[in-house]
Amino acid sequence: MTVPPAGAQPPRNCSLCPRLAAFREVQGRAHPEWFNGPVPPFGGAQAELLIVGLAPGLRGANRTGRPFTGDYAGGLLYATLRKYGFAEGDYDARPDDGLELRRVRITNAVRCVPPQNKPEPSEVANCHRFLAAEISTMPRLRTILALGAIAHHAVLTALGFRRALFPFEHGRLHGLPCGLTLADSYHCSRLNTNTGRLSPAMFEAIFGMLSSCLDAPQGEAGYPGAGADLAIRL
Ligand code: SF4
Repeated sequence: MTVPPAGAQPPRNCSLCPRLAAFREVQGRAHPEWFNGPVPPFGGAQAELLIVGLAPGLRGANRTGRPFTGDYAGGLLYATLRKYGFAEGDYDARPDDGLELRRVRITNAVRCVPPQNKPEPSEVANCHRFLAAEISTMPRLRTILALGAIAHHAVLTALGFRRALFPFEHGRLHGLPCGLTLADSYHCSRLNTNTGRLSPAMFEAIFGMLSSCLDAPQGEAGYPGAGADLAIRL
């Protein structure tokens, strides 16, 4: 097993999750032109907003090597980011499409593609170290947007907070004791939009709120400050 050094991005051959490493190898043999590795974050470390998804999609980020690039969820996410000024340029579902993020970085709670888009709890736990390292290397970070409950719980665990104190709820802002704000949204997956759980309008409302929050001084009304136990809902 390859044990990565603490604080590092996962090595290309990370084998902390044997099931996921084996799945990567299978995909690598079947599709050698695909990325087939732990997908690195997209966006600079100076970002103020970190978006945390679940895991790379098989034919999305696992194929292209850029988070949310090449699948349905990415189409909705990047269109929304562009609409609210968090991205510039054309999104063409390719890592070399020239799209640039503004104030935003995007990553996943689990860096490697899981079969059926379903990581095991142990695999989410294995990847906490990389999420924690990523958060710790973002000096201007103010807000983390979790897409879905698994990402929400991964963020809390990576930061060392108890899940029970901060329950996942779409549209909710949690003021964490460390001074960061954790925002929740349902994942922008095809399943969630097809079933009506998340509409594009609901997703846009999240980014409208985040845009206003990031433009406001920290601690002002509407933006939970350090240690705040309030919860704000859309
Ligand atoms: S999911 Fe994370 S911990 Fe597991 S093998 Fe991939 S990079 Fe390593």
